[in-house]
Amino acid sequence: MLTNLKDKKVLVRVDFNVPLNADHQITDDTRMRKALPTIKALQDQGAAIILMSHLGRPQKKRLEDGSIDVSKFTLRHLVEHLSSLTDTAVQFAKDCGGEESILMSRDLKGGQILLLENTRFDAGESKGDTDFAGRLASLADVYINDAFGTAHRAHSSTTTVAEFFEPQNKSFGLLMQDEIANAKKILNSPKRPCTAIFGGAKVSDKIKLIERFINFADTIIIGGGMAYTFIKAQEGSIGDSLVEDSHLDLAKDLINKAKEYDVNLLIPEDSIIADKFAADAKTQCVDSNTIPDGWMGLDVGPKALKAFEPAILNAQSIIWNGPLGVFEMEAFSKGTMSIAKMVAAASQKGAFSLVGGGDSVSAINASGLADQVSFISTGGGAMLEFLEGKKLPGIKAIEGE
Ligand code: AMP
Repeated sequence: MLTNLKDKKVLVRVDFNVPLNADHQITDDTRMRKALPTIKALQDQGAAIILMSHLGRPQKKRLEDGSIDVSKFTLRHLVEHLSSLTDTAVQFAKDCGGEESILMSRDLKGGQILLLENTRFDAGESKGDTDFAGRLASLADVYINDAFGTAHRAHSSTTTVAEFFEPQNKSFGLLMQDEIANAKKILNSPKRPCTAIFGGAKVSDKIKLIERFINFADTIIIGGGMAYTFIKAQEGSIGDSLVEDSHLDLAKDLINKAKEYDVNLLIPEDSIIADKFAADAKTQCVDSNTIPDGWMGLDVGPKALKAFEPAILNAQSIIWNGPLGVFEMEAFSKGTMSIAKMVAAASQKGAFSLVGGGDSVSAINASGLADQVSFISTGGGAMLEFLEGKKLPGIKAIEGE
């Protein structure tokens, strides 16, 4: 991150898109706490800090008369908590790049913090509008992007704004630096053996990821709903399990490609099946390719877990994206929780492990083992795209091509 910022006005894009309850109270402040190291480092340097973030989707959830629902989406809801987290009386501008922002940033002193109103109140934000970005840029001498979670979006405050700053006056914040450095530990010559664990609902969401990892992982474990497309592609009977028939050929291609590249592709041998998609469904454990009609696979079974175990415990680097079953229901959470334990155990033995993607992060948090893995990414979709090999707009805007 940039240094020597005493008395400089520093515009920082953070990700304060925190969940709020009906009384506008913050129910999970993780994203705010993740931004604290950058804010603290800037305060220590004596910089005047101008923070901006989006909160929710105010353009999509307009009021009946077409206006923005300010009372719901205002960042003012965050001021008190941010003040207590930073031990600083945070100032608030009720616009984002408007007159009040200009006046308040002008008067902002080193060490002080100004929070701007929701970036998405301006319809130009999600279009990457240059005028809006220019107004934001005019508030500061320096731009710092610490919002990894939105780095895959070419929005004004994450991407276009950076065009207004010379290379020496823009940088990543500490959180974003950390996210990129950890993802690169997996992507650039990972320690071997390298095991990738992919779960979640749909193959279509993860194809690019699987294709990419076939190029360099030693083992790929497939779990979750998407496993059944692979099982059907190998002529298995999958009953009423989730399947994407339009992706059967692709699943076959991936299986062949894994053979060609000598990648150990592990598809769950057995499954916990249910007679309905419900927490109180009847369940049984069967081989994954003999699931009767009227039943659906909702978790991986014990044989599958046994087969996965050595590939995880002996790995030196591990990437995990997506739950192995419908972990939100206790009856189908065992596979995911067992994987969490294996990843934690491998990490404790010295493997590097990265857990990324929204649901696997919730799963590792629910397992109580979050502090035993090497790195948990804050950037669901952004991390997915980064791992797929895309150059994210928010990163390109700082680093160049
Ligand atoms: P994703 O966002 O693609 O990572 O998918 C996460 C969702 O996949 C979670 O809500 C899980 O409940 C769901 N899921 C995992 N395994 C299965 C399965 N076997 N059948 C249906 N849904 C599943």
